[in-house]
Amino acid sequence: MNYTIAINQNEPHFLNLVFTIPNIHQNSIVVQLPSWRPGRYELQNYAKNIRSLSITDEQGNHLPYQKITKDRWEIQTANIRKVLISYEYYANQYDAGASYVLNEMMYVNPVNCLLYVEGRIDESYEVKLELPETYTIACQLPHQNLTLVAQNFDQLADSPWIASKNMTHHVVAIKPQLNGRQEAQLHFWFQGKPCPFTNRLVDDTIRYAQEQIAIFGDFPCENYHFLYHILPTTFRHGVEHADSTVITIGPDSDWEDPDFYRSFIAISSHELFHLWNIKRIRPADMLPYDFTKENYSTLGYVYEGITTYYGDLLLLTAGVWNWEEYKSSFESDLKRHCTNLGRNNYSLAESSFDTWLDGYTVGIPGRKVSIYIEGMLAAWVADALIIHHTNGTKSLDTVMRALYERFAKHGKGYTESDYQNLLEEVSGISFATYFSELIWGKGHFQKWLHQTADLLGCTIDLEEISLHKNEQLTETQMRNFTKWTQSRFAAVAKNPIFDQQN
Ligand SMILES: [Zn+2]
Repeated sequence: MNYTIAINQNEPHFLNLVFTIPNIHQNSIVVQLPSWRPGRYELQNYAKNIRSLSITDEQGNHLPYQKITKDRWEIQTANIRKVLISYEYYANQYDAGASYVLNEMMYVNPVNCLLYVEGRIDESYEVKLELPETYTIACQLPHQNLTLVAQNFDQLADSPWIASKNMTHHVVAIKPQLNGRQEAQLHFWFQGKPCPFTNRLVDDTIRYAQEQIAIFGDFPCENYHFLYHILPTTFRHGVEHADSTVITIGPDSDWEDPDFYRSFIAISSHELFHLWNIKRIRPADMLPYDFTKENYSTLGYVYEGITTYYGDLLLLTAGVWNWEEYKSSFESDLKRHCTNLGRNNYSLAESSFDTWLDGYTVGIPGRKVSIYIEGMLAAWVADALIIHHTNGTKSLDTVMRALYERFAKHGKGYTESDYQNLLEEVSGISFATYFSELIWGKGHFQKWLHQTADLLGCTIDLEEISLHKNEQLTETQMRNFTKWTQSRFAAVAKNPIFDQQN
């Protein structure tokens, strides 16, 4: 499978694409443009950005075809060996999940704009970018001479790139020093005004990355790429990919503002945590991804909730944030919980299923909760319960490590009962009420939040919307609080706390 992609020189924001499909042996083939993108669990209408579609054989003869859904075409190919599909794509949405082309920058998220052939999703792809050789490519895919190579469509669809004349690039080695690989490279690519304090950025990134590695035991790729678009306008959006992330954030005039940098590092930590949690640890309902329709899952509180929880918490344990900074971020999430009456009307699991319905819009008043916010709070409750009932020897870390070892590393997806079984196995207690009230019930959060704060020696005030560490802690609370907030990396380096799983 082969693509050539160029920037349209006559009209801004248009890409010119040619998809060449070889080795055809059927009387007809079906091609599909993905109807959604991993990371955003709702249907999309990418095909509305396609203009001037033309389908021919090698000699340029037009082939008969029919559109059978909004983003699916059937092409008649009797006696035809090779098909060329050319089209223009309007790449004019500048966020972390879309594609955007202007002047001397081509930013493409392939899942938006590249077609695949039904039944041939596992064939390799070569993508040739028709750009001047002075362009640099930032992408997780191997590439040479402006040509990218993907092993299959799934990998291609999950490999966005920026091709530009004006990117800043830093690369640092990270030494997980645990099992497996001894060293991995972290790449920082900046399109737009780069972070002015590189040393601090690198130091902070290595710190939180080490905390994440300490939980999972290894770093699952050789090269990881942060693709940052720093915009002049106020913006904040990140999307995870197999070995990379795209983060669009602004305004670029705010680099010296501590709140802006805090937000920048928090979204980066969140996206890196996805390297394990969703890109590898994946609900069975989404393995493999089906790009033709909804991939419903009630487990958003795991793939987004737990990621939101650890994204911030590990900045605290890594020493990137102090307690006040962590507490402030926790309280802003708590504020979103307290001001959303949806918590009385709809469960977390059902809200996860319904991201395909209205998960990324405000929606009607008080209908639903958020897999990010309530999911984060549910993760916090689970973590504290495990810490408390194992006398501080285990935590939610142990569960995440087991999901990685027992499921992800064997290419297996997990189900809700897999997750519940692990929580119970690790903690030694039943999580039945936790699931019936917090995950599938409604209106129960308040009680659980107070209990959780108490286990950790804190007080949570849902009127004032605050979380305080108590002045006086019992011995048990002190042990729980320490376990909750201590550095995972330091603990592993000193005294391995994780069970080895097969
Ligand atoms: Zn996320």
